[in-house]
Amino acid sequence: MAEPATRPQPFSMTLDGAPEPAVATFGVINPACGTVFADAPECTRAQLDAAMESAESAFANWRRDEEARRQALHSAADVVRDEADTLASLLTREQGKPLARAKEEVYGTAAWLDYSAGIELAVEVVEDSDAGRIEVRRRPLGVVAAITPWNYPLLLAVWKIGPALLAGNTVVLKPSPHTPLATLKLGEVLRGVLPDGVLNVVCGGDQLGAWMTHHEIPRKISFTGSVATGKKVAAAAAIDLKRATLELGGNDPAIVLADADLESAAEGLFWGAFQNSGQVCSAIKRLYVHEDLAEALLASLARRASAVKMGDGFEDGVELGPVNNRCQLERVVELVEDARDRGAILHAGGHRTDEEGYFFEPTLMSEVAEGVRIVDEEQFGPVLPVMTFTEIDEAVARANDTTLGLSASVWSADAERGADVAAELECGTAWVNQHLSIVPNAPFGGAKWSGIRVENGRWGVEGFTQLQTLHVR
Ligand code: NAD
Repeated sequence: MAEPATRPQPFSMTLDGAPEPAVATFGVINPACGTVFADAPECTRAQLDAAMESAESAFANWRRDEEARRQALHSAADVVRDEADTLASLLTREQGKPLARAKEEVYGTAAWLDYSAGIELAVEVVEDSDAGRIEVRRRPLGVVAAITPWNYPLLLAVWKIGPALLAGNTVVLKPSPHTPLATLKLGEVLRGVLPDGVLNVVCGGDQLGAWMTHHEIPRKISFTGSVATGKKVAAAAAIDLKRATLELGGNDPAIVLADADLESAAEGLFWGAFQNSGQVCSAIKRLYVHEDLAEALLASLARRASAVKMGDGFEDGVELGPVNNRCQLERVVELVEDARDRGAILHAGGHRTDEEGYFFEPTLMSEVAEGVRIVDEEQFGPVLPVMTFTEIDEAVARANDTTLGLSASVWSADAERGADVAAELECGTAWVNQHLSIVPNAPFGGAKWSGIRVENGRWGVEGFTQLQTLHVR
């Protein structure tokens, strides 16, 4: 879809419950055509200070009334559902995902807010005797700086906002500069729903993220993004001992045992790797297949890759959109070229399909191994290297031979055996006969360099709290 020559009014940040006039703006690109279609505000240092101060003063009241917080989060979920069409269309335009998937993200965003509203912050009594009572309570931390990436801008924002607010914290949220608009809109639609200052939405580039993590007001950083940035965030947090939850990259393996059901595994593996055009932190990024199944499985995956409809997310029937941004597209092209130079054989895809839009065909390759960049690094795009193994111990050792450890899956007709193999994998989430199932009530987070702490469920909320032990005599 070509973008109109005139652009809509700049979107506004939300500071202290009100729209904040933009001092400067930057262009947001539609990856389906490579054209700037809207302007986003560039937050100044003074505006960030104002957002932090607003969140700090809102904290004093927000922390007090747990029931009001629960009701506000349910109302927030309702408003998100009411605005689903607007939010989804912004997501498709700035992120590139098909409209149906964008709607799923918006409804998932509402569902996560509803779920957060119901999480119990139980007081644990560890002793109640003649000597006195000892309780362990969970107290909010204060202001949370929340920073998100460009692949699931709304969903990943509410993984932070929902539990942080439920626990009584207030939030300053920054989306990725590649996908700021749906998040700015979220801030706008929640203005009347949350008390002023409880959720401030700022907008800008990487420098703004660094200002946030070094800022003296937040007591917690909740960050989702790359390992390289995560390390910078951890270093910034260490300066004044801010708490930090880091949800970082993955290079997730799937291991297909010799007894796996070929066709159902092929369907699950394909979408486990290519959903959102591979731009999912926990997508399958390396596939290890038992040698007896490899040829048939590769053929089945290649049929799917050739049949899938890729295109502008607003077109009917489109299943895969473009890569989100030029830099990421160039990285995918580079990794594929490097693998080809090192002897990889392509079974599907391998090329850009468009001069303007950032489309890259779903790509399958074999004859690659550890030591080639596409296997060793996170591609975060629509490319899957397929490798074979003979012994399961060998596959597990190769799967674990990485600094990353976000998630992994094992595929077998014998689910118990699959679970036994999964127990050997060094990762935060392991699936058997599925990949990418993520639910609000179970923790999600990475082992090794893939992260610190978790999001979701009561475990996620606990990361936004400080334990307070109360001794009463
Ligand atoms: P990124 O690290 O480049 O950027 C993420 C966010 O951090 C952006 O908002 C960016 O502006 C901000 N930022 C950049 N430099 C900063 C700094 N010095 N201090 C503070 N903030 C800074 O990541 P990306 O390219 O937007 O996202 C892709 C990466 O995110 C992939 O590695 C992917 O695996 C990972 N990811 C992880 C999860 C998870 O839950 N583990 C989920 C989605 C994406």
